Amino acid sequence: MVEKRLDENKRLREKLDRLLHEARRNEKTQASYDNFSLSVMAAQGPQELFSLLLNEQKNFRIDDIRLCLIDRFHEVERLLTDSYQHTFHGLSFIDADTSKLHIANIPERPVLGSRIPAKYNWLMNLDDCELYQSAALLPLKSGGKIIGVQLLLSKDANRYNKNDGTTFLHKLAAMTAISIENCINRQRILKLGYQDGLTSAYNRRYFDERLKHEIDRSVRNKTDLVCLFIDIDFFKKINDNYGHQVGDIVLIKLVTLMRDQVRSSDIVARYGGEEFAIILPDTGIQLAHEVAERIRSEVENQKLEINEHTLGITVSIGLASLSQIRHQEGIQQKDQPQKITDSLDKILLGKADEALYQAKQTGRNQVVIKKAAI
Ligand code: GH3
Ligand code: MG
Ligand code: MG
Repeated sequence: MVEKRLDENKRLREKLDRLLHEARRNEKTQASYDNFSLSVMAAQGPQELFSLLLNEQKNFRIDDIRLCLIDRFHEVERLLTDSYQHTFHGLSFIDADTSKLHIANIPERPVLGSRIPAKYNWLMNLDDCELYQSAALLPLKSGGKIIGVQLLLSKDANRYNKNDGTTFLHKLAAMTAISIENCINRQRILKLGYQDGLTSAYNRRYFDERLKHEIDRSVRNKTDLVCLFIDIDFFKKINDNYGHQVGDIVLIKLVTLMRDQVRSSDIVARYGGEEFAIILPDTGIQLAHEVAERIRSEVENQKLEINEHTLGITVSIGLASLSQIRHQEGIQQKDQPQKITDSLDKILLGKADEALYQAKQTGRNQVVIKKAAI
């Protein structure tokens, strides 16, 4: 009898120890998750946010993480990845055609279990669902609407069980959704500040800032940089003949055409009314001349179909390169970097503008390089 009681006591004590151990572990995990949540909410931009959500979060015994955002008009993808020319491993987007079908399949609350990887393999992208033995699928909801899903994957079949509680994951999903939504909105506001509303080219403010930055970079890396000024010839006549609205569409189409002729790392900006400027970083005058000539001839050969009109335009282009300017200004590499970059942007723009003026004066529809002699 006594022995039996001692045995029972021992078992109870062991059980208590186990529970205590588990409680301490949970407490630790909870504290780490609290810290993690704070970092997620404080993330400064997409790079930081998605690195936390897709990489750092793996420290919580998760083998892989996938995030899929609903993006009906491909706007979110552009907002989150454009300025970085960067994609994030594990992040994907679903658009208008597929999203209706998939939204219908997204549950209202987190679901867990061993069947989840196979059931939601459309989220995997990499066809690697057989690697994972269990998963948690978290619907991401903001303002009552589903903005995406997050999938936490494990190679351990017991990591996520069908009947586990989901309160914690539900909170985690809410925090993740709000952080993503905030990040998207912040990118929207940033973009409004640097984009031209009509053509979606960069605006002048952004161009001026970026030019300074690119000149700094060129001086540091000892590379060349070219600035192009582009102005539509007799644009006033387009407005007079076809109306202002047609004129607006011409501006939009010209931006698309110019973007198609340059690298995605080049900066195409609307500098004023019907005047555009392009920065070609890491480019010498020879290559830039070819790019400018390509833009000029593409514009000349393009027939624009706008409303019921078919019309053509031409452009005049002025070019100036950083190396020419530095040569003219007698600035040496050994000079202080500050002295080098101070006002170089204004000089460069001035020279490109002079070249454009020359192109206009001597017949339009041509490319002019500002010659070295002052
Ligand atoms: P040039 O060959 O000398 O450049 O002649 P131009 O007619 O292009 O130049 P001008 O500077 O005389 O006229 C520019 C015109 O561009 C006048 C202005 O109404 C028009 N413009 C400026 N901004 C916009 C705009 O946002 N939309 C439209 N439709 N027209 C614009
Ligand atoms: Mg003009
Ligand atoms: Mg003009």
